[in-house]
Amino acid sequence: MGYKIALIRGDGVGPEVVSSAVQVLSEIGFYADYVEIRAGLSLFKEMGKPLEEVELSKIKECDAALKGPIATLLGPGTYTSVNVLLRKYFNLYVNFRPFENLVNEKYPYFNFIIFRENTEELYTGAEWNFGEASVALRVITKKATQKIVSYSFNYALKNDRKRVTVVHKANILKETDGLFRDTFFEESKKYPLQADEIIVDSAAYQLVKNPEQFDVLVTPNLYGDILSDLAAGLVGSLGLCGSANIGDKYAIFEPVHGVAWDIAGKGIANPIGAILSSSYLLDWLSEKHNDKRLAKYSKVISLAVKNVLKLKKFTKELGGNLTTEDLTKLIITETKKVEAIF
Ligand code: NAD
Repeated sequence: MGYKIALIRGDGVGPEVVSSAVQVLSEIGFYADYVEIRAGLSLFKEMGKPLEEVELSKIKECDAALKGPIATLLGPGTYTSVNVLLRKYFNLYVNFRPFENLVNEKYPYFNFIIFRENTEELYTGAEWNFGEASVALRVITKKATQKIVSYSFNYALKNDRKRVTVVHKANILKETDGLFRDTFFEESKKYPLQADEIIVDSAAYQLVKNPEQFDVLVTPNLYGDILSDLAAGLVGSLGLCGSANIGDKYAIFEPVHGVAWDIAGKGIANPIGAILSSSYLLDWLSEKHNDKRLAKYSKVISLAVKNVLKLKKFTKELGGNLTTEDLTKLIITETKKVEAIF
């Protein structure tokens, strides 16, 4: 079957790392019809909008999207985040962010996943300024919480995970986080897995002290956003982390990192986050279309990335001297070796 993939290359290092991911996909034999979608700061400067309405239907006609980071601007009066817009438009309520320590020698091996609710809470843009005071509306609904929680438990069950931990601040935010927490424990009764809880500030501390204790974490939107950058620091680099935004019908795959203006255009961005995101894309397509060939491709990519990281040859932010292109080539070469053993 031929798949149609929307390619949103994004801003900053986005085009560089998305291009690496596409190269890897085509080298392992995943031939897709790529639909280029322009979005981001450069489009905003040209057209006054970071994403045109018509592009949304082009994305929708595709089977899934592979995306680079898109710049958001700071402060009042600036355009709404394209990421938030896409997640809401497609109701991509799951933000899936796995963190496995493969290179950071300061830490023991750990391998946990953060599932972040992706559509509500403080990310709805409901904010008002009243002169000397500003107000934001924090909405948590039972329905959206049930969806992220049941997705996380089902994932845990299917992937032989043992423990699911809800992260909240229900001691202070009694109504909003209270609802998130209560819904989590209500849902947890349906699953034969350990279900427990941690207050968000304690989660930050425990992640830094003993990250190996965690298995699956489920969080409201903002905590997941913050804790996943912390987790990226634990694995050694934001450039190593991939993610998926998943809904009932559609999914968008992107590295966890941002546009990295400081290194954009230099050819030194770490492409692994984008490459791993493309392997999550293959897994999702494989499951949706019962296409086992894609599950195999996905495994080949993730194993090739692991093997290459064992060589301890890195891009600059991890102390190495590889360019984006060098690392992409190394991974492609490794996929050929790995393919042979499957
Ligand atoms: P950032 O991720 O862009 O950069 C943080 C640090 O990580 C920088 O030192 C950068 O060089 C490094 N880094 C990031 N990606 C890397 C890679 N692939 N290889 C090597 N090093 C890498 O975070 P920021 O500076 O907070 O955000 C910059 C912009 O990106 C903001 O406009 C923000 O809104 C946007 N952003 C977008 C997304 C997204 O589109 N999903 C996500 C996060 C941030």
